[in-house]
Amino acid sequence: MANNSTAVIIGSGFGGIALAIRLQSAGIQTTIVEARGKPGGRAYMWERDGHIFDAGPTVITDPACLEELWTLSGSDMAQDVKLLQVQPFYRLAWGDGQQFDYSNQEAQLRAESAKLNPADVDGYERFLQYSRGVYEEGYVKLGAVPFLNFSSMVRAAPALMKHQAWRSVYNLVSHYVQNEKLRQALSFHTLLVGGNPMNTSSIYALIHHLEKTGGVWFAQGGTNKLIKGMIALFERLGGKLILSDAVNLVEHEGKRVTAVVTASGQRIAADMIATNGDLVHSYGLIAGSAYAQRRIRRLKRSRFSPSLFVVHFGLEGSFPDIAHHTILFSDRYRPLLDDIYKRGVLPPDPSLYLHHPSVTDPTMAPPGKSTFYALAPVPNLGKADIDWDEVGPHYRDIVLQRISDMLIPDLHDRLGTCFHYTPQSFADDLGAHLGSAFSLEPVLTQSAWFRAHNRDDHFGNLYFVGAGTHPGAGIPGVVGSAKATASLMTG
Ligand SMILES: Cc1cc2nc3c(=O)[nH]c(=O)nc-3n(C[C@H](O)[C@H](O)[C@H](O)COP(=O)(O)OP(=O)(O)OC[C@H]3O[C@@H](n4cnc5c(N)ncnc54)[C@H](O)[C@@H]3O)c2cc1C
Repeated sequence: MANNSTAVIIGSGFGGIALAIRLQSAGIQTTIVEARGKPGGRAYMWERDGHIFDAGPTVITDPACLEELWTLSGSDMAQDVKLLQVQPFYRLAWGDGQQFDYSNQEAQLRAESAKLNPADVDGYERFLQYSRGVYEEGYVKLGAVPFLNFSSMVRAAPALMKHQAWRSVYNLVSHYVQNEKLRQALSFHTLLVGGNPMNTSSIYALIHHLEKTGGVWFAQGGTNKLIKGMIALFERLGGKLILSDAVNLVEHEGKRVTAVVTASGQRIAADMIATNGDLVHSYGLIAGSAYAQRRIRRLKRSRFSPSLFVVHFGLEGSFPDIAHHTILFSDRYRPLLDDIYKRGVLPPDPSLYLHHPSVTDPTMAPPGKSTFYALAPVPNLGKADIDWDEVGPHYRDIVLQRISDMLIPDLHDRLGTCFHYTPQSFADDLGAHLGSAFSLEPVLTQSAWFRAHNRDDHFGNLYFVGAGTHPGAGIPGVVGSAKATASLMTG
């Protein structure tokens, strides 16, 4: 695509901004139009009572995929963002008091595995080899490939077959290790991208190798600083960001989209339009198109990932012994996942991911205080029609009580600022279909070519980027999707 061409991107999530940087670096004059008052999408932020609360992603993996956004224009990421290494990656804790420190330090990881079951150390080694192989095939080779036609899927099939992609992550892990806690430790990661470890393709075991080689990082000042840095880079390159103005309409003529119209009445014409918004919502913007209506009907028959219930809170005091990332496992694993993914039951005993950024970066909290969030996977609004205004405060109490029982006995005495975010908030704030936190569920039948294509099949200059497209949710996923989409827009 020649320079002097123009693009509009609807939405400023990680995927939207990464795409914008790639387009602007290639000389395409790019405007991002964002509905909310701050950029970031799921990576939004709140500042309350001196605490900095990141709304969403906190585990930064594969920093190289982010650094690349700067090197495209000869810039240096360090100019805008400082990444701090997090060790251990996660502390996993169970109700019986057993713990497992998960890191990329081989000797420690072997020792931790042996603590759970000495007989599983060999199996773990073999799992590691599998993870490395599937990382090379699934992430390095296919992670940023735009799967536009079925033949691209057929070409990828041998690699998927070789790695037994039809098996689930949990099933695959269970082939290598026998201890149930170790099985949980090696399979829970898919939950971080919306996938049920019991159903998500074993290809996702690549996350283990991804973390092992790339590390786990935290942006100094919070993930919001990474977003801020990406926006600073985009604007330095000459890009334009419009905030607090939702796109209400995408105009079209024949098989081309021509302009977006915003809530404030701005009409922005462009040669290409890309949307980072929810898939169902995005097609809903194309008024008067029977094709878009068909896409919506089809998407509504797809499986959407669950939602999340997130409690943000500040505590009096500091907690040097509480890791940056802790997973507090429920006593139920498969039955709990069935509640969320199949039965649509709100679990009374949720598994929690606890985020404790102030242990890595004290500036995340006021002096003498600590910042936390606790996240529980919960059914989306299509699986369970819950009135979250009513249930939210009660569920917040359940979440806080579990943390008090498992980790911080005097939590309630220390509690200061506290608020929560529900599936309804995802629907209201982000236009997320069914309040899903991660868009389409990452099952094999909704992956690669079977996922939303990076370029629309009908409107030749309409593009998609973000969690609903290939390869899927998570920062490396959506930044990879931006690479795939940019290759089509700049090609
Ligand atoms: C609580 C939580 C924790 C997570 N933790 C991690 C983690 O630790 N590590 C990790 O890698 N991933 C994590 N994820 C997943 C990751 O955050 C997401 O997959 C990713 O950020 C989604 O990015 P996206 O590009 O799809 O855009 P989104 O974040 O979905 O942003 C889309 C943007 O489009 C805007 N928009 C929509 N419609 C319109 C419109 N009509 N007009 C204008 N703007 C519009 C929205 O306002 C929004 O800003 C987490 C997700 C959540 C929710």
